Amino acid sequence: MKKPRAAMRSCCRKQASSKEGRKKHAPSSSQAKPSAPDGLAGRPEEVVLQASVSLYHLFRDTAEVTVFRESLLSWYNREKRDLPWRRQRVRWTWTGGRMLVTSGKGSVRSQTPDESLSFGMEEVNQLWAGLGYYSRGRRLQEGARKVVEELGGHMPRTAETLQRLLPGVGRYTAGAIASIAFGQVTGIVDGNVVRVLCRVRAIGADPSSTLVSQQLWSLAQKLVDPAQPGDFNQAAMELGATVCTPQHPLCSQCPVQSLCRARQRVEREQLLASQSLPASPDMEECAPNTGQCQLCAPPTEPWDLTLGVANFPKKVSRRPPREECSATCVLEQLGAHGGARILLVQRPNSGLLAGLWEFPSVAVEPSGQCQRKALLQELQSWAGPVPATRLRHLGQVIHTFSHIKLTYQVFGLALEGQTPVTITPPGARWLTREEFRTAAVSTAMKKVFQVYEGQQPGNCKGSKRSQVSISSSRKKPSPSQQLLDNFFRPLICTDPPSLNSVAQ
Ligand code: SF4
Ligand code: ZN
Repeated sequence: MKKPRAAMRSCCRKQASSKEGRKKHAPSSSQAKPSAPDGLAGRPEEVVLQASVSLYHLFRDTAEVTVFRESLLSWYNREKRDLPWRRQRVRWTWTGGRMLVTSGKGSVRSQTPDESLSFGMEEVNQLWAGLGYYSRGRRLQEGARKVVEELGGHMPRTAETLQRLLPGVGRYTAGAIASIAFGQVTGIVDGNVVRVLCRVRAIGADPSSTLVSQQLWSLAQKLVDPAQPGDFNQAAMELGATVCTPQHPLCSQCPVQSLCRARQRVEREQLLASQSLPASPDMEECAPNTGQCQLCAPPTEPWDLTLGVANFPKKVSRRPPREECSATCVLEQLGAHGGARILLVQRPNSGLLAGLWEFPSVAVEPSGQCQRKALLQELQSWAGPVPATRLRHLGQVIHTFSHIKLTYQVFGLALEGQTPVTITPPGARWLTREEFRTAAVSTAMKKVFQVYEGQQPGNCKGSKRSQVSISSSRKKPSPSQQLLDNFFRPLICTDPPSLNSVAQ
């Protein structure tokens, strides 16, 4: 028979207002005065926050915190992946004159601030082309400029100053640099850490909400190891990336399983479902389904037995990307001096794919009305009169950016037997095919060119094809890619890149 839930210990009403609330602001011996990330620990709103949070979602005492740290760090020291930035930690971040950004475990871009400035924005775009992180490369250079030109070459060393002084450095990046490169005792929260903490403390409320986000940063700060903050933060992220994964977490291999409330909840729900729950006073729960706790899932979202621990964290439904349509044309001069050349024009310096090169394109209505006419006008504005009758529709490419689903209607126009166009307005270039392959163009434009070349006629949907395309190009790295790879050799990983075609 199903046991009454009253037999289980509920601590929902044991709010952290008194004992825990006082403890929270008194550094324990094992915390050794951690410095607060961005001043968070001392913020008055955190006092209010703690007062409304059930003990169930916190770490009760320093013993629990110590077990968590030691278990996680010893696991990390045994199991951590061999990644290039771990072999030379200083290159992980902006420190000792080095700048680095990661873009998947096999792909690393690094420059000193001085080196970064010796690259023009064009070259930065070129080096990052195809990785889908164009704005990141741009911001990296802006940050380098600030360090060299305004900060006398001195990197800020704390999370607070990094975030305040460097453009494009947010709270996570600032905390990661400060803890890993400079040893500041500051916790960090990225997507992996969100998942781990939500599971370990059974936080079922929306992790993107302000309250839950503050709670997660607070938990991260409480947990970070004062002696090894950088390793601890990397360990927490590593656990989320390799063990506490989104779909199929490996709980049996997890170093913090004994502290994991998601595991406990799974066991309890299974017992409840089998109607054999013993009346154990140690079976602790918060207040699911009562709506009293702001960190539990709302009662409208019942437990899903099939998901297990993956009931945490709550899935945040994203708005579908906006749909847009563009007509684009590969215009090729077959009889140009030095061989066939294709026309590329530069995008504006701000906005989507800023500063990258693309085939002449024009925004159009998806209905297809007037696409040819609009495109011909665009082509003529760059290359002068073109034979309209040779404009051919070849297919379409659909590329999903983070917030836009863009359908490119792909056209082609080959110029033969005409006087080669040699003069082009500013912002346009005629490139050979070889030059095109190493140019600062987006993955979407590479797919468009494949359609033009007949490699992928018709629909070319989804991210997988991007990955295939990038993967093969990495087998024959461009000269600029080789330059960077040589910089890291033998440090660079040979693993295939884990690229996400969702750009920007
Ligand atoms: Fe994640 Fe499972 Fe470990 Fe809990 S026990 S932290 S759910 S891997
Ligand atoms: Zn709760």
